[in-house]
Order: sequence, then C-alpha cells, then structure tokens
Amino acid sequence: MEKQILVARSSIPDINEYMAEIEPIFESAWLTNMGVKHKTLEKKLCEYCNVPYVSLISNGHMALELIIQAYDLKGEIITTPYTFVSTTHAIVRNGLTPVFCDIKDDYTIDPEKIEALITEKTTAIMPVHVYGTICDVEAIDKIAKKYNLKVIYDAAHSFGETKDKISVANFGDASVFSFHATKVFNTVEGGAVVCSDEKIWNKLYKLKNFGIEDEVIVDDVGTNAKMSEFHAAMGLCNLRHIDEEINKRKILAEKYYENLIGIKGLKLKTNQLNVKSNYAYFPIIFDENEFGSSRDEIYDRLKENNIYARKYFYPIITEFDCYKDLYSSNKTPIAKELSEMVLTLPLFSDLTLDDVDNICKVILKNYTHNITMNERNLL
Ligand SMILES: *Cc1c(COP(=O)(O)O)cnc(C)c1O
Repeated sequence: MEKQILVARSSIPDINEYMAEIEPIFESAWLTNMGVKHKTLEKKLCEYCNVPYVSLISNGHMALELIIQAYDLKGEIITTPYTFVSTTHAIVRNGLTPVFCDIKDDYTIDPEKIEALITEKTTAIMPVHVYGTICDVEAIDKIAKKYNLKVIYDAAHSFGETKDKISVANFGDASVFSFHATKVFNTVEGGAVVCSDEKIWNKLYKLKNFGIEDEVIVDDVGTNAKMSEFHAAMGLCNLRHIDEEINKRKILAEKYYENLIGIKGLKLKTNQLNVKSNYAYFPIIFDENEFGSSRDEIYDRLKENNIYARKYFYPIITEFDCYKDLYSSNKTPIAKELSEMVLTLPLFSDLTLDDVDNICKVILKNYTHNITMNERNLL
C-alpha cells in the first residue's frame, strides 16, 4: 500500500473556524496568563464533564505533576507500570516513590492487589483508565476510604467517556486529562485537572503561575504550566466537534470488531457495560500459539505495508533504563505479559473504512484457520 497510515492523526477544526476564534486575541493582544479563551474553555469543560472545577494546564504531564504538589502528597503512590511513562515520572519528579501494582486483563489496576502494597508511607493511588477502559472505580474508592488515601486518576485516555451516564471526570479526588495533539480531544498541547475542591483549584491556579499570590507575594514554589490563549482557542473549536469526533471513531472501531472478532488467538478490547466509550485506542492481544503469528511479526508486516501500528504499552515502565535497576517487572507479571502481546492499531477520525479493511487484511494474511464470517458470528 502506498498510503502511509500512522497510529494516530490529530483532529483539527476547519481553518476558518479557528481564525474566527483567534481574531479577538489579535485585537486584545492578550496572548496568555488566563485570558478570555482560557476562562471560556474551563467553563465549557465544566459543563461538558458536569464537574465543578477544571484547571487548564500546559499539558497532561504538568497537570499530573501539579495535582500531586497541590495535595502536598509525600511518601509512596500506588500506580501501575502499564501506562505512558508520564504517569510514573510525575510521581518521581515530585520526590515520591511509585509502588507498582499489577493490572487485570482489561489493562487497568487490579484492586485486589492494592491492599498488599499499602504501607504507612502510602498517601495516594494513581490508577490509569488505560485505552479509555474505566478502572474499577468503586473498588478503588472503597480501599482509598478505608486507608484514607487520595485517588488521582490519570484519565488521559478517557476524555468524553461516561459510566452510568456520569462523566469519567467525576471519579476519585481528581482526574487528569491530556489534550495532546494525538488524544481524542486536543488543544495542540494541553491538559487539565478536574476536581471538586475549590481550594485545590485555587492552589493549581497559583502553582501553574510560578506560585504567585499577588504582585508582591510568592508563597509556593510553582512552575510555569499555563495554557496560552491560542491553545485554548483550539480547544474551543475542537470541543464543538467532540461528539462527531467520537462517533467517527466508533464507526471505525466497529469495522475493526466486525473484521477481527472471533478470530482464534486475537483478543480485542471489550466494551464495558453502561460505559459510553470514546474509542481512543484499538489494542489487540496476539496469542502467537493460537493465531500463528506473534505481535512482533504482525507489527513488522504492517510496517512493510506502510501501516504504523504501535506497541503501546511496551515495554512496561519498570523496564525502562531509568527505572529498571530500582524495580522488578516480575512483580507485575500480567502487565509484563500483556505488554509483550499487545499492538495498538491505527484509529483516528480521518481513517476510512477501507483503510480498516486493508489493515485487517494484512493482519489476517497468513491466518490459517478457515473460518467463515458466519461461523465467526456464531462464536
Ligand atoms: C498522553 C498521556 C500523558 C501525558 O500527557 P501530555 O499532554 O502528553 O503531557 C499522561 N498519561 C497518559 C496515560 C497519557 O497517555
């Protein structure tokens, strides 16, 4: 295939829509420092997620770092190694110790394994809604209450989702979103913390602006993590189209399911009961013995066809050079095993149904079990 297909492609508004949105910025010359666009986007996000407070941040990673600082957390935070490296870095860069809990086969933290990891130094749990699969929020909440721990969700993959009609942003003490260019909703670079405590929102306002209280008072060691007006303007445009964006992804994801469901040796992401998904990612687990080809073989074969799938999340965090001497991946065997079998297929709104068919054809090229579509539908 000549057309190059990457794993993700940013969603962008019509250029005229963006021009109209930024015109007032040129008139006011107010480019950043919590201007009109920043305030408007925070308000619109509060409405969209039905939450009391949203603090826009320069990116998702800084949002993670700042919410840990805002809660003044110390000691140990329980998290998982099956995530983007940002989750762990945010803990470590605050001077805290990550404690890695294994995951379930749906890629999210296994609540049954959390309690054994709690020590007197534990102050929080930082679970990740990996690929938009919503964690077992009730079980996590129960443990957190019992041990008086904060729960901060890395919700970077889950913008736009609801569980029992409640926005994913409402779980735990706080949730962090990434609005990076590759995410379902983007502000080019950007992120946000969602919380229900006004004091935390005020603290974040200060921390993202160098810890400045007023013209003469600086009483926190803050950083610069402000979102500019141009980024907020991009967000205002993209937010208008978020439902359409998710719907396009849904149609493509359904095509993948249609082509790949029931194939022996392939495990697809399961739809969660009562969850409205955002179709952020399409991960597949390849069982080499049953399918006949390994994850790495399929990855290479797709690449030969100009299709760039990604081995998200491989390797797990505890195997990266900066962590491998400090932690053992053997303590989280399920995370390790899944990371070696997973491939995330291209999924973005500009992908076509034909693209999906072609990608699936390449994956199934050497598939030897002759099984018809009808037979598969019966599985
Ligand atoms: C993207 C992402 C982040 C970091 O967000 P940025 O906006 O890129 O800084 C953190 N955690 C997870 C799970 C992510 O996917």
